[in-house]
Amino acid sequence: MFQAFRKWRRARVLRHAALPEALWREALAALPFLALYDAAELARLRDLVVLFLDAKGIVGARGHEVTPLQRVVIAVQACVPVLNLDLSLYEGFENVIVYPGEFVPGWEWEDEAGVVHRIDDGLAGEAMPRGPVVLSWPDVEASADWDEAGMNLVIHEFAHKIDMAGGDANGCPPLPAGMSVGAWRRTLEAAYDDFCARQDRGEDTEIDPYAAESPGEFFAVLSEVFFADPTLLRHEYGDVYAQFVRFYRQDPALRVPPQ
Ligand SMILES: [Zn+2]
Repeated sequence: MFQAFRKWRRARVLRHAALPEALWREALAALPFLALYDAAELARLRDLVVLFLDAKGIVGARGHEVTPLQRVVIAVQACVPVLNLDLSLYEGFENVIVYPGEFVPGWEWEDEAGVVHRIDDGLAGEAMPRGPVVLSWPDVEASADWDEAGMNLVIHEFAHKIDMAGGDANGCPPLPAGMSVGAWRRTLEAAYDDFCARQDRGEDTEIDPYAAESPGEFFAVLSEVFFADPTLLRHEYGDVYAQFVRFYRQDPALRVPPQ
């Protein structure tokens, strides 16, 4: 019954909330990586974007006014990881908040000695458990061209959301039937340990050293690399790449034209 309701609702949203063709074209032009997607993938992505924008508010903060194009550009990138999965992975929060620049998060935490800490450095993005995804617009713009950076802020934060759909952001998202949690953990842990050892040795890695921060950040950063520079991930951590292909049900390296 619930499934049938969802299907009905989905069809209704797609019928009534279509994305204007000109705006979609503009978003495609602003995101050059989409040139590699085939027509069927783009059609599916467009439907997901409509559904995503129907379900989530994308709201400006600190005076930032979110334009229609910015909404679509953010939604497209948020939907890339779930292109072959389900938008229900993004349930449990309502808004994406967009700042005009880096922001200082409002939260504090207390350590074991009872000392209260605050983050004073600005952040480019944040995904709060059961709360919004927060993004700095200039940082979204800077990472929209994957060819240049091999990084993607929006995918990073939404990978945290996917991770959190399984509980804490610990690098272990809810795996589909047929995938082994043990194999996932072993593969990710071995790669994480290796990556941390390389950082400790002072190696200059192509993958962002921030991935060494925690298993949760490792998953989010490697998810960025998986979509933005797939051949790099396949080359550096082939076992993780293979797990991600099964998890995300995409093989982005196949989209990359041979050099
Ligand atoms: Zn992160």
